[in-house]
Amino acid sequence: MTNSDDIMQNIFEAQFLASRNQVAPDLATRLSLLEKLKNMVLDNAEAIAKAISDDFGGRARAETELLEILPSIHGIKYTMGKLKNWMKPQRRAVDLMFQPASSQIRYEPLGVIGIISPWNYPLFLLVGPLTDALAAGNRAMIKPSEQTPVFSELFAKLIDKTFDPLEVSVINGGVDVARAFSELPFDHIIFTGSTNVGREVMKAAANNLTPVTLELGGKSPVIIDDDYEIEKAANSVAFGKFLNAGQTCIAPDYVLVPAAKAEEFCKKVIKRANQSYKKPTSNEQYSAICGERHRTRLWGAIEEARAAGAKVYNHKAETTEGAKITPTVILGAPNNCLIMREEIFGPILPVVPYTIIEDALAFVRERPRPLALYIFSNSNDFQETILKGAISGGVTINGTLMHVAQSALPFGGIGPSGTGAYHGFEGFKRFSHARSIHKIGFINAFEMLGPPWGALSKLAGKLFAGIK
Ligand code: NAD
Repeated sequence: MTNSDDIMQNIFEAQFLASRNQVAPDLATRLSLLEKLKNMVLDNAEAIAKAISDDFGGRARAETELLEILPSIHGIKYTMGKLKNWMKPQRRAVDLMFQPASSQIRYEPLGVIGIISPWNYPLFLLVGPLTDALAAGNRAMIKPSEQTPVFSELFAKLIDKTFDPLEVSVINGGVDVARAFSELPFDHIIFTGSTNVGREVMKAAANNLTPVTLELGGKSPVIIDDDYEIEKAANSVAFGKFLNAGQTCIAPDYVLVPAAKAEEFCKKVIKRANQSYKKPTSNEQYSAICGERHRTRLWGAIEEARAAGAKVYNHKAETTEGAKITPTVILGAPNNCLIMREEIFGPILPVVPYTIIEDALAFVRERPRPLALYIFSNSNDFQETILKGAISGGVTINGTLMHVAQSALPFGGIGPSGTGAYHGFEGFKRFSHARSIHKIGFINAFEMLGPPWGALSKLAGKLFAGIK
């Protein structure tokens, strides 16, 4: 056991004991923790944006503000506004045969929550789960990504200054630390990251019977109807794809376009990207690719598709120098290319032409169930056909990404794109135990049926279940 393992173990044990020995925090305590979290983010917004930009080798301040700080604050405020209501015990009906009695559900804290997060939205993907965990009355330990060392160190310092370590603690370190972290017997682990690592986390958690929420990735498709204005769809897809240079879990991964409009669509996406990010390789508003490994993977994927005969559309200033990859659209990549097999997680958009909608649906259904699905159509019938025909974690119709920003909607995947959902009320419930409480009234009628069992129990069986 290393020194950092000892520290981690000690913090866990202290939080665990506190969660067992102290009564659940009341509304006022939870609200004050959330208020502290909100102020911590707001007061340090500039330093946070700078740290993330340093880690990325360049990320627009506006992107960090709009895609990380804003949704973090929005989520905290929404939760603070609703928490009193969520915490109220819920009355439930009592069947006639158990009367007189009353039933209720109380949402109680689970205890200690482990939060493991990725590098692509390092703030929002920590603050989001932490908001829900604290709202539900838990303590939390956090393992940020080692891929964003500047941000992760800053975040640890801020949490340390803001919270008692018994409330919230940050553990920084590499993959070894992450692995040891996932082996702690938490009351729940929420992991955001890749599907492969999610599998490892679930295995480690299984040894402790620790329940997990897995927020994973995958290939999120876009399906465009023939009736939808192609330029409008292209603008929206370009927006969702090239924010954070495509390093977004719910970024459109590939687009199914009516065959006759496929080329036009590719050109319009590039036109929009060029308007949004002039000279992308030197544009401060366009994100860099975080890490050499990902840059090499993405350049390799473009070259592989080109060599396989696909048509590559991109900005003229294509260069492998520097940390940025220009927005790229690829038409006609064979299915065995990397960009058609794996989650892209970068600014490369494959376009797949289709002739009839059944083919487009089959294309989606043949692949693992995605995290997000985007439909562009003016027809309710078309929208319903796609919704019923292809399952996904979440959906935005006639736009991209926006479902994740809805505080009143749960966010999560299905199958290989994730297990369980959080945000808002679903997040509060995810980190709570729904405790059933049944209170017997002035007599316990059921117990009066027997034993010894006789005519009365026979009558009850006949009356309440039709037993002959
Ligand atoms: P990753 O899976 O490589 O790493 C995520 C975290 O897991 C890191 O903190 C890392 O330290 C930790 N980790 C690594 N190995 C581990 C192990 N064996 N046991 C326990 N923890 C371990 O993911 P990444 O590259 O940081 O992020 C990109 C992936 O995350 C993409 O697949 C993307 O789709 C996904 N993602 C999903 C969501 C979502 O909300 N569904 C959001 C953002 C990113």
